[in-house]
Amino acid sequence: MGEITTKLLVLGGGPGGYVAAIRAGQHGIDTVLVEENRLGGTCLNVGCIPSKALIHAAEAFHAAMLQAEDASPFGLSAGPPRLDFTRTIAWKDGIVGRLNTGVASLLKRGGVKILRGRGTMVDGKTCLVETDTGPERVRAEHVILSTGSVAAALPHLPFGGRVISSTEALSLRQVPATMAVVGAGYIGLELGTAFAKLGAKVTVVEMAERILPAYDAELTRPVARRLNALGIDVLLGAKATGLSAAGDALDVATGGERRTIPAEVILVAVGRKARTHDLGLDRLDLDMSGPFIRIDERCATSMRNVWAVGDVTGEPMLAHRAMAQGEMVADLVAGRRRAFHKAAIPAVCFTDPEVVSAGLSPDEARKAGHEIRTGLFPFAANGRAMTLGAEDGFVRVTARADNHLILGIQAVGAGVSELAAGFGLALEMGARLEDIAGTIHAHPTLGEAFHEANLRALGEALHI
Ligand code: FAD
Repeated sequence: MGEITTKLLVLGGGPGGYVAAIRAGQHGIDTVLVEENRLGGTCLNVGCIPSKALIHAAEAFHAAMLQAEDASPFGLSAGPPRLDFTRTIAWKDGIVGRLNTGVASLLKRGGVKILRGRGTMVDGKTCLVETDTGPERVRAEHVILSTGSVAAALPHLPFGGRVISSTEALSLRQVPATMAVVGAGYIGLELGTAFAKLGAKVTVVEMAERILPAYDAELTRPVARRLNALGIDVLLGAKATGLSAAGDALDVATGGERRTIPAEVILVAVGRKARTHDLGLDRLDLDMSGPFIRIDERCATSMRNVWAVGDVTGEPMLAHRAMAQGEMVADLVAGRRRAFHKAAIPAVCFTDPEVVSAGLSPDEARKAGHEIRTGLFPFAANGRAMTLGAEDGFVRVTARADNHLILGIQAVGAGVSELAAGFGLALEMGARLEDIAGTIHAHPTLGEAFHEANLRALGEALHI
């Protein structure tokens, strides 16, 4: 058995792990990164990146279909488009491949040693890695656990055959004629909408009484309207009970009724669970928080010099949170003073239209005991949104009533994902309504709706 001694061992090369390793390499820390699959983890290979590629291609196809039907709002018409889905998937895979190569070369530049294989912890300082060329024992002063998450399965609808997770949905060989999506969270809706735009008849089944249950109702209404306009059936308060007797449809219980939904493909998107099994964690003395590894504000676990970052530590399971945690832990190992006191971790749903939330919603702010004032500015009154043919949506800001400190910003509308950075900056820098109101925003841009929402909260809106 080979033996490697290093200062830092990173177990799992997703956004949390590979960013930690890159930063550690930049600090000159001797680092070994263990990855059993492809570098970049869920996000790069079967999550953020491939899903956004598919969503973009689906939107392009849908726009071309509208032109073919002479239904384009821009007065464009064209012949019927042809979809070569094999090429769509190959294009998406090409992007993933380029990014994989990029991550590998960044790690190489930082002098990080990449060990390919499954790692199992032996104790808090030792990991056994099964590589193609045999087992390697890695001993490290510091360990970062960044093994991520996997799609949660439903016991009565196990994965296999036509029942798939987002991973398989991103590599289908053809667009199914019918698709049932179980779960109206962001993953289910992003992929369900993309397949509907590519021509599938999509039905979404959700146990809660509304879509995107993690977000407030006002914010998700434009998305519900669009799903309806796209012909996607959304069954709320409905429970997927299993495959139909013939095995070619989904059985659903809804309000005392039973329904059978024809489905060539059933996408189960009911959340993700921490990847903590088979890691040898039972041999360690780690405090857990349910299925997740418990951490403090420095991502330290209950064991000295054992750190954990990303999805394995629980919600919010987002790539940018994992990256920020990974970067911080590498700084800590290098001896810098750091802590993860983030005012906001923005969350974006790449639905149609897109949804952004950073900080508290008005309800959350009230529940937290704040007296608040809010300002909402609709895209229907924003010139840029009109020129994009995308007027459904708004930007909403919530601030403390006494000193106008901004507590939260939400937006729904086409392209609002690009506003998330400004929202995060405002919260991180402790901006007050007057700071944003006093900032000149370029015209005509969607960002002006953010400006106007702040003005409106101050009772001084100009364009409404
Ligand atoms: P992961 O990315 O899961 O990486 C963990 C890595 O550890 C994997 O590469 C795995 O192979 C490796 N590993 C696990 N166990 C071992 C072992 N024993 N030995 C060796 N290697 C091991 N987030 C966003 O912020 N924006 C989005 O738009 C977005 N879209 C998404 C879309 C989909 C369809 C999905 C599924 C997720 C999406 N996410 C998105 C969530 C995002 O992908 C995760 O939050 C992120 O990947 C978490 O990073 P991580 O480093 O914690 O774990």
